[in-house]
Amino acid sequence: MVEMVDIVVKGYRCLRCGHEWIPRNKKEIPRVCPKCKSPYWDKPKKKEVEK
Ligand SMILES: [Zn+2]
Repeated sequence: MVEMVDIVVKGYRCLRCGHEWIPRNKKEIPRVCPKCKSPYWDKPKKKEVEK
């Protein structure tokens, strides 16, 4: 039997569409989300309001 283990890979998550992907070049931050092509994938839609 092969033991199944969880593999944790660091990647990026688009805050606009929720798409997650692993960058080929880890040193370079992607400018746009590969799925929705949004340049603001790393920024939330609305500013967080402090309660
Ligand atoms: Zn996206």
